[in-house]
Amino acid sequence: MKYLSTRTAANDSSQRKRFCEILLEGLAPDGGLYLPEFYPQVDDARLSQWRGLSYADLAFEILSLYIDDIPAQDLRALCRKTYTSEVFGTDQIVPLRQLESGLFLQALSNGPTLAFKDMAMQLLGNLFEYELTRRGEVLNILGATSGDTGSAAEYAMRGKKGIRVFMTSPYGRMSPFQQAQMFSLQDANIHNLAVKGVFDDCQDLVKAVSNDLDFKRRYKIGTVNSINWARLVAQVVYYFAGYFQATSANTQKVSFAVPSGNFGNICAGHVARMMGLPIDQLVLATNENDVLDEFFRTGVYRVRAPKDTYETSSPSMDISKASNFERFVFDLLGRDGLRVKSLFGEQLGKTGRFDLSADAAFAQAASKYGFLSGKSSHAERLKTIRETYERHGQMVDTHTADGIKVARQYLRGGVPMIVLETALPIKFAATIVQALGQEPTRPEKFVGIEDLPKRVKVIEADLETVKRYIAAHCD
Ligand SMILES: *Cc1c(COP(=O)(O)O)cnc(C)c1O
Repeated sequence: MKYLSTRTAANDSSQRKRFCEILLEGLAPDGGLYLPEFYPQVDDARLSQWRGLSYADLAFEILSLYIDDIPAQDLRALCRKTYTSEVFGTDQIVPLRQLESGLFLQALSNGPTLAFKDMAMQLLGNLFEYELTRRGEVLNILGATSGDTGSAAEYAMRGKKGIRVFMTSPYGRMSPFQQAQMFSLQDANIHNLAVKGVFDDCQDLVKAVSNDLDFKRRYKIGTVNSINWARLVAQVVYYFAGYFQATSANTQKVSFAVPSGNFGNICAGHVARMMGLPIDQLVLATNENDVLDEFFRTGVYRVRAPKDTYETSSPSMDISKASNFERFVFDLLGRDGLRVKSLFGEQLGKTGRFDLSADAAFAQAASKYGFLSGKSSHAERLKTIRETYERHGQMVDTHTADGIKVARQYLRGGVPMIVLETALPIKFAATIVQALGQEPTRPEKFVGIEDLPKRVKVIEADLETVKRYIAAHCD
């Protein structure tokens, strides 16, 4: 399997790369995102073979279709080391629960940081360690986080050979639980930098360090952002696992409802559907930051300015543009890389928007690719959390609530609708208290984490300070 950039011409095969070549990379050199040359097809016989597999072995089967430069026995060992009941809490790894007739919740949030990002990030940690060891190289991951991504990265990379993590976060602005999760890590290779500023200051610092090419090369700086293909393909696995739990025969279809921000999670659903998994609809749910809902309703993709991006009670979906969306548009436009380049590389930069409403391809987003969308407000979020608790005794987090709210708009008789649970309520306790008048339940292993000793360095929002810190901690 080779990978191409979403911005290359169809007849240009000169830049194609293999999996391990793109594993540690972010964007392609032309600014596009990597996708496989084709989607391997999974037929009825294959689905039947996979039905009874453990999650780890299912992951191995799916990843094998996309990775041919890691020996099979090594890849299988990496999957088995990653997807264990010790790390994810149950043997099913992603258990399905019924809420009401036809509506299910798939738990993706029982990993170390209680958000679905662990599903991919835990594998990424093991893949990175494997590949860096094989090359005899080291990598220093520099990132900015306002919560979920940073902690998932730290828990995935802690104690890994050849890897250090330098994670910036806005000082005093994460929830006490999130701060405790990150700052209580005592591993020598994890460095928390609490920056006196806001999230954008952290992001600017990361960009500035990465733009200093000498420094970047000298200190082997890399990232783990949501556009990484390995993260995406790891997420494809739980769509298959959810499908197998909700059905008993391959003639049945299911739909998925996905709380969405950067379009990473639902893009994996799109890949699963393109591979032939019998998915009826892919229902995209946004919060008040409705960039993607607007696109699927109108055909207009309009990125928001920072001042038009709201701080909501489902903060992991507070995005101004959706970094993975280009992958879907590439497929939607018949893989016309030059057109994608003109839309994302030129038009978006100049005007902040593009309009596909008059394009015949746009109608296919729903008819051919199964996409539907909707949004949820703070009031609707509270109402959904309350109703779900009253009717089913089930506490859901704010992001998952957005998914449930929109899923209900699109229920179809006879087709199970699976809502992906993207975090546990404990991570967003304040809103749960507002909705239910009580604290969310806390998993045993997190009792008292706020009282653990913290390992964090508070710094000014200053480029030289960050560079000096990194230099001093890379020997
Ligand atoms: C990251 C995240 C999302 C959004 O996922 P995308 O892949 O960016 O669409 C939704 N909910 C939670 C809890 C998250 O952490």
